[in-house]
Formats: sequence, C-alpha cells, structure tokens
Amino acid sequence: MDSPLTIAIVIAILLVIGLVAAFIYSQKKFRGQNLPAAAREKGDFIHLKCPRCNHLNYVEETSYIKLCNSCGWNLTEPYIYTNCILNLNEEMNWEEISADLKENDRVFLKRDIFVEEDIEKIAVLNQDYEKIGWIPDDISKKLIEDIEMSSKIFSIIKKIQPSKHIEILITNDAQKLYSEST
Ligand SMILES: [Zn+2]
Repeated sequence: MDSPLTIAIVIAILLVIGLVAAFIYSQKKFRGQNLPAAAREKGDFIHLKCPRCNHLNYVEETSYIKLCNSCGWNLTEPYIYTNCILNLNEEMNWEEISADLKENDRVFLKRDIFVEEDIEKIAVLNQDYEKIGWIPDDISKKLIEDIEMSSKIFSIIKKIQPSKHIEILITNDAQKLYSEST
C-alpha cells in the first residue's frame, strides 16, 4: 500500500481538490466584489440644493436631466434674478433714451470688452441696439458666468426715474417674469 504510486495518486487527488476549492472560492469572491459595484452604479445619489426654491433634492448623479422635485427648475442651471441700476452711457442723450423707453420694455445684454482697462462688462442695449448703459462691475462679474451657463436670459426695464436712474431686471426664470408682469 505504501508504494510510491499510491502516494503519488493521493497527492494528485489532494491537489485537484485543492485547485477546485481555490477555483470556487475565487469565483465566489469575484461575484462578491462585482455585486456592490453594480449596486453602486444604480444608486449613486447626490444632494443638490435648488437655486430657485432652496429645496434640497436627492437626485441620481448619472441622470442626464436633474430637475427640482419642488419647483421643476433644472438643477444644473444657475438661477438668475437680479435687479440693478445701470451705469448710463454718457454719450447718449438722456432725454432721447428716456423718451424711447418704457417700463417692462425688453432690453438686450451684450458682452463688452474694455481692452485698455482689461475688464469685461455687460452692456445693455435698447430695442434699436443702442448702448444705453452697463451693468455695475460688481454684479456683472458673477453674471457673466451665470449667463453663459443659462439657456435663456430675459432682461426688462423695471423703473425709469427722471433722476437719470434706469433699473433693469435680469432673469432666466421666464415663469416668474411673466407672472410678475401680468
Ligand atoms: Zn426648486
């Protein structure tokens, strides 16, 4: 019984058993590692605060469109709703500008680069595309970025005062703009 052949056969059987066990174990481990990864892909949720209504949303990170559960705002779009008093274009005649403009008139925004001062401003144009003024520097800096990320911008005249004050409203919230002006 103690022949070298028997010993060799026993060793061979033990080796096979060992290999099979190792194979099964590695398969199990492989599946075990894969499962959480698949689960993670499905359930990667993040918190996003709505810039419009401040509602804290819990949304899937990979979803293409992320909307606020409370107000429907596109959570990846910045929210713009800003009032400001223009720095008037001194080259324009105030009587002419103010005679042409009415409250709630649409105006247009245009990026305006001042090469000498090395700054960029937002110019405000009337309906004849004449530059009536600029948005104050402190506001325009942030606005330039937000406007670039927005799909649509509306700007209207809010107030015109004889003291040479023109106040405009800039927003990308069409719904709020129309509900307020009616
Ligand atoms: Zn919201």
